[in-house]
Amino acid sequence: MEKDNFIHPCFENYKCGARFHLPVAFRCDTKCNYCKREYSDKIDRPGVSEGILSLSDVEAYIREKAALYPECRIIGIAGPGDPFANADELFGAFEIVNEKFPDYRCCVCTNGFYLPDNKERFLKSSVKYITLTINSVEEPTLAKIYDHLVLNGKCYHGEEMGNIIRKLQKEALDIIIQKENIRLKINIVVIPGINDGEIAGIVEATRDYGVYIYNLIPMLPVKGTRFGDIEQISSESLEAIKDDLRAAFPGIYIKDNCLRCRADACGRIE
Ligand code: SF4
Ligand code: SF4
Repeated sequence: MEKDNFIHPCFENYKCGARFHLPVAFRCDTKCNYCKREYSDKIDRPGVSEGILSLSDVEAYIREKAALYPECRIIGIAGPGDPFANADELFGAFEIVNEKFPDYRCCVCTNGFYLPDNKERFLKSSVKYITLTINSVEEPTLAKIYDHLVLNGKCYHGEEMGNIIRKLQKEALDIIIQKENIRLKINIVVIPGINDGEIAGIVEATRDYGVYIYNLIPMLPVKGTRFGDIEQISSESLEAIKDDLRAAFPGIYIKDNCLRCRADACGRIE
């Protein structure tokens, strides 16, 4: 993978720049039990955007945001659904970026479930940064975290689904590592009592894929979701997990300051 001196604000631990998201991805292929997708201009968390941006509006939208944040050179797609479940919108938007705004870099946040289906488009694309959310590599735990997975028109549940998710995410990693000049971040949503004892297993399973940074995100309990009554992990417990990881995996780079951004977040990372 590339050694690049360009600084992407989500891939470092210091305040260092701006990014903006194109909320073009409206479908999702699964249901995480902590996720509640909503349209709102007030709620500040992942899965929320004011609306959906159509491809015909992408160029004007970027011009508007570029005027507001002239220092920004990162354009990301992170929802409000999963980008690869909206492959035409994802790659269509990045084609517009390449053609009209060639000095911007493309970034995507995904669960990776539909990345294998879009392997060739992804490998040919201009994506320079990718974040893969891997919340467990254990099938019984995946069966707790995800309600269902829709794949090629079929709906899966339970450990059968967990087995498919594990394989799809491994396949996604095997594809990502084939792409030149890409930087990889692994997001892990830390859910007390569900996966907080398994984080080292995720690092172990992914460390050979040239992961640049791990981002342990405390799950935000959202009312109305299945995990809505689980208390957010304390900062002390989260730090203890990170300390254990640093001891077990010397040299690992762990993010300290994830903002849990909206799907249409724009601006500086402060
Ligand atoms: Fe990229 Fe995700 Fe950061 Fe958005 S939040 S810029 S998609 S890493
Ligand atoms: Fe929500 Fe993303 Fe999970 Fe889909 S993959 S249910 S959008 S958190």
